[in-house]
Amino acid sequence: MHYDDTNVFARILRREIPARFLHEDHLCAAFADVAPQAPVHFLVIPKRPIARLADANDTDKAVLGHLLFVAAEVARTLGVAEDGFRVVVNNGARAGQTVFHLHIHVLAGRAMAWPPG
Ligand code: AMP
Repeated sequence: MHYDDTNVFARILRREIPARFLHEDHLCAAFADVAPQAPVHFLVIPKRPIARLADANDTDKAVLGHLLFVAAEVARTLGVAEDGFRVVVNNGARAGQTVFHLHIHVLAGRAMAWPPG
């Protein structure tokens, strides 16, 4: 799908609106979710303008791997890696995606139910 660079995560990357950053490097950023669904809830996003996971292409493969690696690294830093955490990607409106800049949710600090709703 078309990438709209006025989305909230693009604006966070441009520092037009604030976020509580937990990590940043040349490929990605991680910051706290503004409406946490668990005691720990942060997002890992690529700097590249990718609207949905389904829009990633062949040249994005290394970035996609990096996002997962950083998700675990930040979870370790926050001390929740051993206790357990959940990684979620909502792809498309029907799956619950509301911000159309690819993001990985990382949730931790409570027991998680399965299957997710
Ligand atoms: P999704 O529904 O998968 O697209 O997830 C979007 C997430 O972005 C939700 O969990 C929101 O709470 C979160 N969110 C929206 N605006 C902000 C913001 N300004 N800072 C941090 N997280 C946000």
